[in-house]
Amino acid sequence: MSDNILEIKNIFVEYFAENPITGQKQIVHAVNGLSLDIKDGEILAVAGESGCGKSTLAKAITHLEKPLSGEILYGNKDIFKMKKQELKAYRKDVQMIFQNPYSSLNPKMKIIDILKEPLKINTEYSDIEIYNIIKEKAEKVGLNINLLNSYPHEFSGGQRQRIAIARALMLNPKFIVADEPVSALDVSIQAQILNLIKELKREYKLTFLLITHDMGVIKYLADRVAVMYLGEIAELGSATQIFVNPKHPYTKALLSSVPKLEDTKTERISLKGELPSPSNLPNGCKFHTRCPHCMEVCRTCSPTDFEIHPGHMVKCFLYMNK
Ligand code: SF4
Repeated sequence: MSDNILEIKNIFVEYFAENPITGQKQIVHAVNGLSLDIKDGEILAVAGESGCGKSTLAKAITHLEKPLSGEILYGNKDIFKMKKQELKAYRKDVQMIFQNPYSSLNPKMKIIDILKEPLKINTEYSDIEIYNIIKEKAEKVGLNINLLNSYPHEFSGGQRQRIAIARALMLNPKFIVADEPVSALDVSIQAQILNLIKELKREYKLTFLLITHDMGVIKYLADRVAVMYLGEIAELGSATQIFVNPKHPYTKALLSSVPKLEDTKTERISLKGELPSPSNLPNGCKFHTRCPHCMEVCRTCSPTDFEIHPGHMVKCFLYMNK
């Protein structure tokens, strides 16, 4: 039996956006033939620069953005072909935590009502059962139950993110997509929220898809890492494989931005130039315009996935015959 909670198979996601200079509509090729298995109970981090397609991937997984083609399988069912009741169950099982806890909480609602809402909409629980669930989840994330009659603006950024996490837990999800969950928080608060995510994963046997550009956060939390570049997975491996033995030139460049990694032998590369526009994708290897190892073949041919060690995949011609 598969130990995957979700299987993403060759998805392409595109949408129209306005060119900021010409004002004309253009197609954004946000996700380009991406395949990825997410294992039950793991924290899988998706790393990459802003604009690499990681948030679009999160939207596709949470059923907010329909892929042009490909499948996202949950329990062997494509989530975009689910019947109404199946989709309702999927939406209970899969929850999201957003980057900015303030904008994700309705400022006009008391916290107690924000936390009640998913239970009122999705369950038949009595008021006392709902109160007991809220109490349990609030305590689990470190919120004082006596403060739940307050409004979001009365809490600090860290407390608001705890509220957002408590709301995500209300329906006992199996899988949480966390999109930059600490990047809007003070550095002093970030470690507390990261520790909370670790604790919740253990306590509720949760699976997390962690979307972030911060390699320090990934190093602290992730079991496996998918490095994304222009809508593709450039490298995939365990956190140890990625941090100790990175292979793809883009992964090496991302790691160059993390200070004081203990491994000093691995080659580090400074990332030069801007990320090309996803409306105008380069031919060949998508990284070739910035790659210090670019060869002639890289300009015209796209590398496929090479498995260089079990579970360690890299999309780069440098490893084709190794
Ligand atoms: Fe660089 Fe070529 Fe590898 Fe792409 S395929 S990362 S351009 S060496």
